Amino acid sequence: GSGLGPDLRDARSTQLFDRASKVIPGGVNSPVRAFGSVGGAPRFIEKASGYTLTDVDGNDYVDLVCSWGPMILGHAHPAVVEAVQKAATTGLSFGAPTEGEIALAEEIVSRVAPVEQVRLVNSGTEATMSAVRLARGFTGRSKIVKFSGCYHGHVDALLADAGSGLATFGLPTSPGVTGAQAEDTIVVPYNDLEAVRAAFAANPGEIACVITEAAAGNMGAVAPLPGFNEGLRALTTEHGALLIMDEVMTGFRVSRSGWFGRDGVAGDLYTFGKVMSGGLPAAAFGGRADVMAKLAPAGPVYQAGTLSGNPVAVAAGLANLRAADDAVYAALERNAQTLGTLLGDALTAEGVPHRVQYAGTLVSVFFTEKPVTNYAEAKAADTWRFPDFFHALLARGIYAPPSAFEAWFVSSALDDDAFSKIADAAPHAAKAAA
Ligand code: PLP
Repeated sequence: GSGLGPDLRDARSTQLFDRASKVIPGGVNSPVRAFGSVGGAPRFIEKASGYTLTDVDGNDYVDLVCSWGPMILGHAHPAVVEAVQKAATTGLSFGAPTEGEIALAEEIVSRVAPVEQVRLVNSGTEATMSAVRLARGFTGRSKIVKFSGCYHGHVDALLADAGSGLATFGLPTSPGVTGAQAEDTIVVPYNDLEAVRAAFAANPGEIACVITEAAAGNMGAVAPLPGFNEGLRALTTEHGALLIMDEVMTGFRVSRSGWFGRDGVAGDLYTFGKVMSGGLPAAAFGGRADVMAKLAPAGPVYQAGTLSGNPVAVAAGLANLRAADDAVYAALERNAQTLGTLLGDALTAEGVPHRVQYAGTLVSVFFTEKPVTNYAEAKAADTWRFPDFFHALLARGIYAPPSAFEAWFVSSALDDDAFSKIADAAPHAAKAAA
């Protein structure tokens, strides 16, 4: 059966969650999956196709998480599945170079002009960790500037005041990050150029890089204010620091050239993951050739990986990128706007204070009427409304991110049927949030 409706079954998911919790901390392999801030057992997924996620109780959901970003085409896209099957039959990993790695690197370099060279890694976390090390190695400086509410993976030095799962669970940082690892990290408010200017003034000649989400998605969708990325470019150049544009979330999602394709502000280094992986573990960092030349084996900055450039992951990533033509990006734009409009209209009808915000095709609902431009403003919203909003959607077959501090991800697979399900569920969710 479709399982749609408030009588949604969750017996098997609950049973599996209990079983998982015995052998896996919190029952999950990444914290936000646990439904920790919304309550209830997370849905264990059996399969997915197009926009539909099917859980182990047989419920179908319209997926608005898309594996937290990668699945822009929807699930099990034939071109991606075929590429993976073909790659798998010719060997799973060689630990030696393959032609596919060149093709994926060329695809990235051809799309994002400031990226002249790129190295493949296995996760966004590895990408940002390596980019920061490279920035320090290149400049010979120690300090880094990051923005509160920006998440760059679970890198020790980057966990300070990060959004995403830490925001979901109300954590300022993480035990296990030593003072030494954190002391070179300067955290400033997002969209605040004055704070960045002050950081440079207070630490002359010491800041290796500024790392930013090209458009923030990990405190919810918070686009850079006009002039912010440009200002970061100017300040880093003025002070001899590198600008790292983290496009793990935005890359190849908000346009075929990522956020760079929207604002054209060039970073020195970039990080990518998610969409370029096709749903398998692959990510990348890249940028200026003179900076990338410092990486081993050409240069002294060490970075490596047994499974980096894995042939199956590379095949998936290439297929995902190549199948995403102009029609796919047009659909993502349209679908993001339609989703935001449906949710916003339903909340307006119920008189629930809210704002629908976009960062390109990333969408978020904030329960406040004030524009959200930084993490403090995101946290000041009525986040207590979110769990009921979320569960009213889930109960009607709409799978939203289980946190008030996450962007919602659309796919090009969403069609009229999907949107009619969302339209049917939205008024109930708005009532629940009131
Ligand atoms: N950077 C950004 C902007 C992200 O959104 C994420 C993950 O959500 C990461 C880095 C970390 O990537 P991963 O989860 O693949 O380690």
